[in-house]
Amino acid sequence: MKAGAYAAGEGRERRSTRQLEATYRALCERDDHPSAEQVYASVRAALPSTSRGTVYRNLQKLVEDERIRVVPVAGRSARYDGRVEPHDHFVCTACGDLVDVHRADAPVAKPPRGLGGHRIEAVAVTYFGLCRGCRPATSPRAMD
Ligand SMILES: [Zn+2]
Ligand SMILES: [Zn+2]
Repeated sequence: MKAGAYAAGEGRERRSTRQLEATYRALCERDDHPSAEQVYASVRAALPSTSRGTVYRNLQKLVEDERIRVVPVAGRSARYDGRVEPHDHFVCTACGDLVDVHRADAPVAKPPRGLGGHRIEAVAVTYFGLCRGCRPATSPRAMD
């Protein structure tokens, strides 16, 4: 970015705050854990002048500030979560649907002790499988 591209520092700052908040809002108003690309699309709809790089940087900043969470998904792009309280996730390996799993429904196993001096600070569990929509209709109902 060229120096002096913006007339006043204040205007520029207000613009980046607006873009940051738009990124945060885009995430909080949905619970489907969008990818960075999907967040970019909704921010663009609200503030068309926002660049992809700005949205990616803002997501990074929101994660660092612990206002949002990043949910890594093996083999797919990371997903973002507007809910920061501890909870787990279910990922459909067919369609990529990512939904919240409440700890009350699936209590987390006790973490192992003595990990060679490593200290556990957080635990995140991701369950993989087929969602209702992707599960074959003939699937046994015993798994429900
Ligand atoms: Zn699915
Ligand atoms: Zn979540």
